[in-house]
Amino acid sequence: MKGVAVLGSTGSIGTSALSVLGRHRDRFRVVALTAFGSRDLLETQARAFAPDYVGLVGGEANGWATGPACLVEAATHPDAEIVINGVVGAAGLEATLAALRAGKRVALANKETLVTAGELVQCAAREGGGELVPVDSEHSAVLQCVTGRAGTSISRIILTASGGPFHTWEAERVRRATVEEALNHPTWRMGKKITVDSATLANKALEVIEAHFLFGVGYDQVTAVVHPQSIIHSFVEFVDGSVLAQLGFPDMELPVLYALTHPERVRDAGVTRFDPVAAGALTFEPVRADVFPAFALGVRAGRTGGTAPAVFNASNEVAVAGFLDGRIPFGRIAEVIDRVLAAHATRAADSLDAVREADVWARRRAEAVLAR
Ligand code: MG
Repeated sequence: MKGVAVLGSTGSIGTSALSVLGRHRDRFRVVALTAFGSRDLLETQARAFAPDYVGLVGGEANGWATGPACLVEAATHPDAEIVINGVVGAAGLEATLAALRAGKRVALANKETLVTAGELVQCAAREGGGELVPVDSEHSAVLQCVTGRAGTSISRIILTASGGPFHTWEAERVRRATVEEALNHPTWRMGKKITVDSATLANKALEVIEAHFLFGVGYDQVTAVVHPQSIIHSFVEFVDGSVLAQLGFPDMELPVLYALTHPERVRDAGVTRFDPVAAGALTFEPVRADVFPAFALGVRAGRTGGTAPAVFNASNEVAVAGFLDGRIPFGRIAEVIDRVLAAHATRAADSLDAVREADVWARRRAEAVLAR
């Protein structure tokens, strides 16, 4: 029986994770749960799984731990072998570092963690013997394709992108897209922030950086292709030219399950079985970099390295919040990111302080650009 801590349990990934864990009580025991808010849902989850530790990050609670320290406390719970980090945004970073230093497997849905501090995360894993396993569907696909094969034989990773709700829209219409339109994702049901990131393709840029750190590949070896059906979750091309892919209906429960059981596979009656006929035609289109400039901005920040990815991530978070609040149109999200990145003097991201400073600086700068 393996102990599992679920961080961000009331979010989209957290609820998927608990759904999976609920079907596999013979293998896994939930030992810790934390959520930012959603107190009622957290209470329901706590009753259903009876964890040793419950933390409410933002709020008052009788008998529960509260405050930002909850995340690290849950992530380092002595009985947790696996930590599912489904926290949204940069707030999840310290918990990932702490869990890796404590030698745990981190099933990472919080890609911001890797993007903002990839080198620190790798270093923490080396120090503590922890293991990073992706929950992101594309990276789970890559891991499934490369498991059991030597890493040096990878020639290229091709990440698939649904393209979001605007993949066929004219550039001008995209720039004027409303919040409602941006949140109407064609294939995946996810939280608001990531759904907007999917519409701008900032999410795919974050995933290119994520792939760089997870699989040790250079930026020339990671590309993205639009695949509107979201059936193929990514491709891996090997040095001999052979290409493997992982397929399935879009459902986060499968990558969550694989992150828990990797490199093994277990039977799961709750996952909808794939049917190629029902899946229908699978099509592919190039990423329209001119219509979705956030993609190229993010990849460039990845190549620049140091604090640039943290600045990309932070300015994107602020810009997306500004869009969701109705302060800026969709088309200005990438412009805010661009301005903040252009004003940033990149430094080495070799300490938590350096990453935090860059993050705080970028948020302030982005707010200033938004206010204009
Ligand atoms: Mg993804």
